Amino acid sequence: MNDIFLDKNENPFDIPDSIKYQLLEYIKKTKLNRYPEKGLPMLLEKIGDFLGVTGENIIAGNGSDELLSLIIGDVRGNIVINTPTFEMYSFYAKNFDYNTINIPLNDDFSINTDSIMSKKNAKLIILCSPNNPTGNIIKRSDVEKILDMNIPTVLDNAYFEFSGEEYIDLIDDYDNLIILRTFSKAFSMAGLRVGYGIANKNLAKKLKEKQSPFYLNLLSSKMAEIMIDNYSTVQEHLRYIIDERERVYRHIKELAYPSRANFLLLKRDIYDYMRKNGVYIRKLPFMDNSSRLTIGKREENDIAIKLIEDYIQS
Ligand SMILES: *Cc1c(COP(=O)(O)O)cnc(C)c1O
Repeated sequence: MNDIFLDKNENPFDIPDSIKYQLLEYIKKTKLNRYPEKGLPMLLEKIGDFLGVTGENIIAGNGSDELLSLIIGDVRGNIVINTPTFEMYSFYAKNFDYNTINIPLNDDFSINTDSIMSKKNAKLIILCSPNNPTGNIIKRSDVEKILDMNIPTVLDNAYFEFSGEEYIDLIDDYDNLIILRTFSKAFSMAGLRVGYGIANKNLAKKLKEKQSPFYLNLLSSKMAEIMIDNYSTVQEHLRYIIDERERVYRHIKELAYPSRANFLLLKRDIYDYMRKNGVYIRKLPFMDNSSRLTIGKREENDIAIKLIEDYIQS
């Protein structure tokens, strides 16, 4: 039996051939010897329209990882993160030689707003909702409390589509907020590397000034546009994954936390056990006694469920 990979929160569905052909058609009729149009305005407008804002509110990049690096590289000072969370925040902070102030999540995985609000000298605050790896969302009123500190704040919203919890309207009231999203998860495009930020026009403009005018290649940016045109396919996959998430959770409740993303946080480190049985899950270096299971296709999830049920019984 082939190994099963439920470790990177990827979408288990590849992009259907009928949609990939649209990219091939584009390649055929496009001059690849030419640079993209400066700033890729078509892509930004397409994303803006899709979200009900404008292209001026959008900044795109080579994965939201690159945008994180751009934002973090620019802050020159302490960065507040809420742990456990996505490792790339401290990775980039370390690269640029900044300190992170790690504020542990509360026992129910909510953010500790009082503790964050005491860090008045922070230069950047990073919130992650739904949070990777805990899977819960941050309450809107908590986000607002943090934004009221008037410190630049990233809300990493990479799993938005699996949660439905919307924060975009906050950019109208807060010019210190940038929301990060990605085509890597819900849109099945992890291999093509397209992420984007949503912010008030002034903040978006300031950040764009620090980017290369050719920050994305033509093919990745075109594929992002094509996927927006094919959002009904994305939605079908989303419904499937969300249904599967709930089904898997029902079976392994004893060992998992509920989730609003495409993965479940497990209450034990069962990486070695699962791997021995051909299933790769995520080991969590900063969390003892936990691991993370990505939701896959039904037949993959069935195998994972069976293994975890056996584990619970033994
Ligand atoms: C997967 C993930 C990203 C995605 O990054 P890309 O660089 O766009 O692929 C960002 N933030 C979190 C929390 C993630 O889990």
